[in-house]
Amino acid sequence: MQSIVPFQEPVTKSIAYMKDSCRRLGLTDEETNAICDPQEVRLFKLPCNVLGQTVIFPGILCLHNNARGPYKGGIRLDANVDIYETVELARVMTLKTAVSDIEFGGGKTGIRVDWPRLFTMYDKKSDDWGFMRVVARSIVERYAQVYGDLFSKHIYVPAPDMGTGPGEMAIIYNQTQDPASVTGKAEGVAGWLPGRKEATGLGVAWVTKLYVEEVMEQDLSQLTVAIQGFGNVGSHVAKYMYEMGAKIVGISDIYGGLYDAEGIRVDELLEHVAKKGTVVGFEADSISNSQLLSLPVDILIPAAAGHVIGVDEAKDVQAELIVEAANVPITLDGMEVLNSRSVPVIPDIIANSGGVVASMEEYSRSLTALLRTKEDVFSVVRHKLENSLKGALAVAEKQNIDLCRAGVELAVQRVYQSMKSRHQI
Ligand code: NAD
Repeated sequence: MQSIVPFQEPVTKSIAYMKDSCRRLGLTDEETNAICDPQEVRLFKLPCNVLGQTVIFPGILCLHNNARGPYKGGIRLDANVDIYETVELARVMTLKTAVSDIEFGGGKTGIRVDWPRLFTMYDKKSDDWGFMRVVARSIVERYAQVYGDLFSKHIYVPAPDMGTGPGEMAIIYNQTQDPASVTGKAEGVAGWLPGRKEATGLGVAWVTKLYVEEVMEQDLSQLTVAIQGFGNVGSHVAKYMYEMGAKIVGISDIYGGLYDAEGIRVDELLEHVAKKGTVVGFEADSISNSQLLSLPVDILIPAAAGHVIGVDEAKDVQAELIVEAANVPITLDGMEVLNSRSVPVIPDIIANSGGVVASMEEYSRSLTALLRTKEDVFSVVRHKLENSLKGALAVAEKQNIDLCRAGVELAVQRVYQSMKSRHQI
């Protein structure tokens, strides 16, 4: 059945799995389209003042689904942003908030920033972090001026994603003067949440430990792990899994990777990265990112970019379990290969949902001005993640489907129910 949006989206993992679920749930074509298609997509151009010069940045705002609560999703500044990626990421947010059973929907903003062109234009080096912050802030300032009304009315509640962070969220707060209009705010900004920064990585570590114990009937401290990406998510996954006793033998970032069969000292690596800005140069064997994905480990955790495991990479995976800490790191074709090889995957909508669950806590704290401790936040994240994983495992067993399809099915049931109740279907 054809989607009714006036552009032809490629068939992605989320669309394919959502349509599968709708079929199993007996929904009509019209209902299926209403759930899968975005409710609204806006294309825009932002003329921004970058160091006294006007530069125009194109972007997409996708409001995918608000049946269960305000549209929720991060602001991504990246050279590869396009309409398909933004719509896909917004749809994944709809699934993630629903499987976590929190009162948000799904949205996303993608703004295309051609960094190489900007570095040339302004005669800057490609690692000039200060310049990148100046650019990011002028874009977000303009973006907040244009869309501030959506945030102030809590129609869409944005958050950081690749290329933005707490500093940019503070700019949104400056525009709206409303702590509940944005999450992921910097420490000290009204409504900021202790534990938000760690929540995604810690959640990935918890959900992996739970799966290892309950499904694989093993102990995390006996297993080896490789992690791609050492940014906010990857570094916290590594830190917490290391503290849980797992042996982290491979870690990479965009500049290169490390391998140590005896286990990488993650505490020392964190200090190295704080000084050097990359894992490269730490004492261990050097490996490439593609070698990292095919290491002979028990658990592989992609925690960086999307679509890094396609058909070829999936054929080479040696891990016994993959945990999607990044958003959509495995393509639809890649999933088919992994399924045919019976390699289980804990899906992104469950594995990395600690971040959005903490965002719900931040939103609720911002609305009420009631304080939360880090322990309060971690306890909610843990409880929600356990429920999502156990709920999806139950659906997987009942329907005899893999965990990724089961997570989507749980989410689709909830979105459908809310759309029905709100007469959106
Ligand atoms: P980040 O920008 O802090 O870190 C990204 C890391 O990945 C860096 O170490 C970078 O060097 C590395 N990297 C980038 N491209 C790479 C590549 N092609 N190969 C290898 N390494 C590469 O970003 P983050 O916040 O850690 O987010 C990582 C992923 O997790 C993204 O997919 C993001 O959408 C997803 N995610 C983040 C959160 C959150 O709370 N930050 C929540 C849910 C999902």
